[in-house]
Amino acid sequence: MRTIGLIGGMSWESSAEYYRIINQRVRDQLGPLRSAQLLMYSVDFGPVEQAQHAGRWAHAALILEDAARRLQAGGAECVVLCTNTMHLVAPRIEAAVSIPFLHIADAAGQAAVEAGTLTVGLLGTAFTMEQDFLKARLAAQGLTVLVPDADERQAVHRIIYDELCVGVISDTSRQVYQRVIESLAARGAQAIVLGCTEIGLLIKPQHSELPLLDTTELHAQAAVAFALEN
Ligand code: GLU
Repeated sequence: MRTIGLIGGMSWESSAEYYRIINQRVRDQLGPLRSAQLLMYSVDFGPVEQAQHAGRWAHAALILEDAARRLQAGGAECVVLCTNTMHLVAPRIEAAVSIPFLHIADAAGQAAVEAGTLTVGLLGTAFTMEQDFLKARLAAQGLTVLVPDADERQAVHRIIYDELCVGVISDTSRQVYQRVIESLAARGAQAIVLGCTEIGLLIKPQHSELPLLDTTELHAQAAVAFALEN
C-alpha cells in the first residue's frame, strides 16, 4: 500500500471526514482490520483564512508548500489537499514536491462524466464559485458549470465560514442550500458539485433533488485508489 499525504485543517471538520472515509474505504476493500497508511499535516486555519479574505494568496501558498514538503519528507507518496478553495494555489504546491498531487477537481469531474451529468451546479466558497481555478478544470473535462446568483453565493459562502467550518449544522441553513439547489436545477443543472469539503456535513443525498458529487467523498476515494494501485 502506498502512503497518502493529507494537508488538513481547512477546516478540521472536513479533514476528520477525509480520515474516516479513507479508512472506511480501505477496510471495505482489504478487510475488517485493514486501515490506510497515511500522514496528515494539519495547519492552523486562522492564518490561512485571514490570508484568503485579504487576498494574500501567495502567503497562504507558502504555508501549504511547507506542509507538502513536510509530508514528502515524512514518507508520503502523494499530496491530497483537503479543501477546494486552496486549490487556487495548487500549482505552487504541486511544484514544491516531486510526489503526485491529486487534484480535487479531477476526482469530481471524472465522477460527473461517468454519471453522464454534463451540466453541474457548483456550490462552494465565493472564491471557488467566482474564480476560475476549479471551474476551468471541470470545464476542461467537458462539463458546463453553473454557479448560483450573487445573493445566493453570498449566503452559501457565509454559511461555510460562520457555521460549517466551526461545526454548526442548522436546519435553516440546510433550507437555504436546498433553495439554491432548486434554482440551479431550474436553470438546467443535472447534478450538484459540493465544491467545499464541509458541505457534505449539511447536505446529504436525501436533502437534494439532484444527485450530489461530494468532493470530500470523491477526493478521498481517489486517494484510496492511488494508495491501493499496484
Ligand atoms: N473546506 C472548504 C473548501 O473546500 C472551505 C474552507 C477553506 O477555505 O479552505 O473550499
